[in-house]
Amino acid sequence: MTKAPGIYGGRVCVSVGDGCLDCFDLLDRKAVRRYFETDEQRQREDEIYGIPLEALEIKGPSVSPVNGVIAALAATEFMAAVTGLRLPTRLQEYRGHLSKVVVNNDPPRPDCPCCKGIRSKGADADVER
Ligand SMILES: [Zn+2]
Repeated sequence: MTKAPGIYGGRVCVSVGDGCLDCFDLLDRKAVRRYFETDEQRQREDEIYGIPLEALEIKGPSVSPVNGVIAALAATEFMAAVTGLRLPTRLQEYRGHLSKVVVNNDPPRPDCPCCKGIRSKGADADVER
C-alpha cells in the first residue's frame, strides 16, 4: 500500500498451492534486501547515509485496532482452510481509511521465480543469510 497521510490498513495473503507475496507484487524490495544483509552491511549502509535507514522510512507505527482487524481476517481464513468450510481467500486488503476490505482474486503470476524456482526447496536456494 502506498503510504500517504491518512491512509492505513493491512493485508492478509494466504499462500496455499500457487501464489506468494512476490506474485502479488507485495514485497518491498528494499526491505527484503535489507533483511538479508548482515549487521556489518547494514551498519556500513547506515554510515553512508549518516542516519539509520529506518529513520528515513515514512511508515508509521502499527496501531492496535488495525492489527486486530488484520489478525481477525487472517484467523478467519485459517479457520476456513483447516475446516474445509471454503477455500481461503488468497489476498485481502483492509483499507481502514475507507472502511472496506478488498479481495484480490487475480491468478498467481505464472513466471514467478519464487513459486517456480525455490518454493518448497529452501535447502536448494542459493541464499546467504
Ligand atoms: Zn509466487
